[in-house]
Amino acid sequence: MAHQMPFIVGLTGGIGSGKSSAASCFLQHGAVVIDADEISRNLTAPDSPVIRELAAKFGTGILTSDGSLDRAALAEIVFGNTASLSALNEIMHPKIRAEVLSRIADVDPSEIVVYDMPLLVETNSVDICDAVVVIDLDVDRQVERLVANRDMSAEQAIARINNQSSREERNLAATWIINNNGTPQEFNQGCSFVWEEIVKRAHKMRT
Ligand code: ADP
Repeated sequence: MAHQMPFIVGLTGGIGSGKSSAASCFLQHGAVVIDADEISRNLTAPDSPVIRELAAKFGTGILTSDGSLDRAALAEIVFGNTASLSALNEIMHPKIRAEVLSRIADVDPSEIVVYDMPLLVETNSVDICDAVVVIDLDVDRQVERLVANRDMSAEQAIARINNQSSREERNLAATWIINNNGTPQEFNQGCSFVWEEIVKRAHKMRT
């Protein structure tokens, strides 16, 4: 029987690993990209039910003066605090999941969807996907880039990295791993190569 859904590829990797760069490469090749961070920002728009739920749980300190979400303040509260982080995940992840499933339902079945989700493994969202691409790089490189591009100290970068799944755990979920230790050009070539593999896999699944 023909496959009645678009082919769904999860895209994940550690903080600053190159997910956005990979997503834009796949977009250029014709993927329909769904961005979990964008869904999360939409859900937490000023005066939305979700931002009210967050303020009830974590206090109005997570709101800026114009009523939008102060992401840095919220990150500060949940960072390194397992109970708060679980509470935040329990509020956000079922809603993000419902929204991504609803968007997928609207995509033409002949398309390939790339679901860009930093916490794909942590939130058990791999089950939404037909295949998974993981961006992998050495931790030293990752720290270097976070310090250079994200205005973090090396200590902050390491703390953020250690707060996510380990490299090994993420890589175990991968259908394909794209290495991003090299130049942006090399990375782009790796992404284009994997795109061809995705297309082949999607084709196989449909026939
Ligand atoms: P993510 O979406 O996984 O957080 P990004 O794609 O935004 O990662 O990349 C993080 C930062 O590192 C960006 O500033 C990006 O330009 C930079 N970057 C990504 N890949 C490379 C690379 N191969 N060499 C140098 N800088 C890179």
